[in-house]
Amino acid sequence: MKKIFAANWKLNKTPEESRRFIIQLKNDLFQAGSFEKNFFEKNEIILFPSAFSLEAVSSLCAGTQIGFGPQNIYSEKSGAFTGENSALVAQAMRAQFALVGHSERREIFKEADQLLNQKNLLLQSLKMTSVFCIGETLQQRESGQTLQVCFSQLEAGLKNLNANERIIVAYEPVWAIGTGRVATIEQVQEVHLALFSQLQKMGFGQFQLLYGGSVKPDNAGALLKVPHVDGFLIGGASLEVESFMKIIKAGL
Ligand code: PEP
Repeated sequence: MKKIFAANWKLNKTPEESRRFIIQLKNDLFQAGSFEKNFFEKNEIILFPSAFSLEAVSSLCAGTQIGFGPQNIYSEKSGAFTGENSALVAQAMRAQFALVGHSERREIFKEADQLLNQKNLLLQSLKMTSVFCIGETLQQRESGQTLQVCFSQLEAGLKNLNANERIIVAYEPVWAIGTGRVATIEQVQEVHLALFSQLQKMGFGQFQLLYGGSVKPDNAGALLKVPHVDGFLIGGASLEVESFMKIIKAGL
């Protein structure tokens, strides 16, 4: 199974900064000779720029196997939804992926399970792949509700999806996102094992499980060894090519 390194740039990077990042990334990946020719047979890179930089990312990724997509889409393809991002438009820009349900969307923008489910269904109908984020808050973890919360987000978010299509689930404990407080190996192991079994029980055949939450070059190697961690969703450390590449290299 391929390892996935997904970069969530959040509200950062102009089109020009995005271009510069990808030029440097391609240089490091393809020209420095530090990677095997079959790198993309074993690894997948997915970039999530802000919507305004999607076109720049699309043109720079053309002809490579670097995937990309928006950080959010609306649940309808088109219509009177001023200010929203259309998955159809993203697809026309050659996006193959979209983030759904990032904790910042859930918390700040009050996106609820039912809406997230509609987004996942829409992406599936367009043959795009959702990177569907789930995870517990600190209060939920401290009151012993971690698995219950994650399972219920899974059940609600993936309701009525075709279980034969590809889905990527990112487990991101909310308390570990952007805080520098990474989950312990034991915590990640427990949740990933449980999510793996749960997704199998739900009938999903083609899924990958990412961990996200303060992944950095110095903790990536140990986290990638945890069973059922198929890669990362990376925020802060994906903003510079150098740290992003160090995380990728930790998996080689
Ligand atoms: C994220 O934004 O999904 C994330 C995991 O951020 P960070 O790596 O900065 O914690």
